[in-house]
Amino acid sequence: MPYWKMIDHPFRHWRLEGWPGAVAWFTGRQGGVSPPPFATLNVGRSVRDLEPAVRENRRRAEALGAAGRPVRYMRLEHGATVRWLGPDADPPVADAVFVGDAAGVLAVTFADCLPIWLKVSGRPWGGLVHAGWRGTVADVAGRAVRFLRHQGVPPQDVLAALGPGIGPCCYEVDEPVAAAVRALPGGAPFLLPGGGGRYRLDLPGLNRHLLEQAGVRPEHITASGLCTGCRTDWFFSHRREGGRTGRMGGYLWLTGS
Ligand SMILES: [Zn+2]
Repeated sequence: MPYWKMIDHPFRHWRLEGWPGAVAWFTGRQGGVSPPPFATLNVGRSVRDLEPAVRENRRRAEALGAAGRPVRYMRLEHGATVRWLGPDADPPVADAVFVGDAAGVLAVTFADCLPIWLKVSGRPWGGLVHAGWRGTVADVAGRAVRFLRHQGVPPQDVLAALGPGIGPCCYEVDEPVAAAVRALPGGAPFLLPGGGGRYRLDLPGLNRHLLEQAGVRPEHITASGLCTGCRTDWFFSHRREGGRTGRMGGYLWLTGS
């Protein structure tokens, strides 16, 4: 069974073990050069960190697995658009991007939103999904699997790995979000009672469910079990840190079939 392995050299990060033909990894918040509140390994450009610091942080994060290859960072819209990565320098604006035939290294930035790695078994195809609550209630994970099905890939050939995201322990949502979750087939069990008429949302659990609904086999789904809100010593958490914080990086390089 594939799993996320924590590695402490040259600084703490996680690498996916057990996916042939893919190198997948994500960073935490340690090992970079940014000052607070982005201390230290912020790889996000949208958060008003110092540009030279972000550039150095990205260099360090990319060097963990990309071996000098160009890395293209997804341009997120917090929606459910699915696209192929084209030859352009800038990836398409989409929260799910697929890359085929070793077309380079793909990256996503996140802090509480859930990154999901997908890989087609036996083919050099894979992708990254960025699932916050908006993308999740729009079923971006399921849409990504159906996108592959339209390209002739049966869902049972799809492998999935969930990275760190905000867990039900830390993620309070209000009624409009809860209503959108309830509207998903089988979504209601992923809402837990919170205080004052609010709810707690199990974002990773719900995304696993959506992948299974789309036909991905349960035994093909790997979860990190890591909550960004519980581990602000390891991760940036947009919610826990009042909205001013950095971003981790999730990376996928397809090396072969
Ligand atoms: Zn938590």
